[in-house]
Amino acid sequence: MRLTVLGSGASYPGAGHACAGHVVEHDGAAILLDCGNGVLANLAKLMDPTRLAAVFVTHAHIDHFADVYALQAALRWAPEGPCPPLDIHLPPGLFERLGAMLTARGTVELAEAFRPHDIVAGRQVSVGPFAIVAAEVDHLSPTFALRVSVGQSVLVYTSDTAAGPAVTAAVRGADVIIADATLPPGYEGRAPHLSPALSATLAEEAGAHTLVLSHLWPTVDREAAAREAGERFAGRVIVADELDTIDIDS
Ligand SMILES: [Zn+2]
Ligand SMILES: [Zn+2]
Repeated sequence: MRLTVLGSGASYPGAGHACAGHVVEHDGAAILLDCGNGVLANLAKLMDPTRLAAVFVTHAHIDHFADVYALQAALRWAPEGPCPPLDIHLPPGLFERLGAMLTARGTVELAEAFRPHDIVAGRQVSVGPFAIVAAEVDHLSPTFALRVSVGQSVLVYTSDTAAGPAVTAAVRGADVIIADATLPPGYEGRAPHLSPALSATLAEEAGAHTLVLSHLWPTVDREAAAREAGERFAGRVIVADELDTIDIDS
């Protein structure tokens, strides 16, 4: 299983960055975890976006779904298109709210591009070689962390979340964790997010071998984030950057 970071930014993208998005590939299959602003342009550097097998949107914050509209256009206007509907998994009600932004015609086109599925915590979804299980975490209600497994290899994407028992349970046993690392020093507790230090504690307790710090504000000092995490986590720390690839083995 190979992870590629498409967007490491939080809330709004800094120069050359994009908001939340990660593609996971194995055996020729690819799934997209979040589709924030700027993600589609980076996905196109890696692969034909119409090759995706499924998309997961973890919650209804714009930095996690803005490029669903761009993906819809890529599916519709592909050279051999329109493509068959692409499976999109998202919190209940969000697909209808995405359509409500559009004209009547745009709503129809969105519905033609995607086959929506409600994310249900604890229910396994199989997509090609991937088994995906969502767990609700502590952020905008609802927000889902995603556990992606191929054989014994496990990747957990925390999405956005405060520290606490929900995300601690969600990451247990992960080999690689993509963690919300939004909060700079001094901000802990002021917003429902993790900091690099909190992410590192989580990864240490989970027994992961690699921690990918992601969802970073453009103003964050990335070297300091790596240092803070390294003081609390004995494994490998990676500060996510666009198009970084990480191979995931158990
Ligand atoms: Zn976010
Ligand atoms: Zn959020």
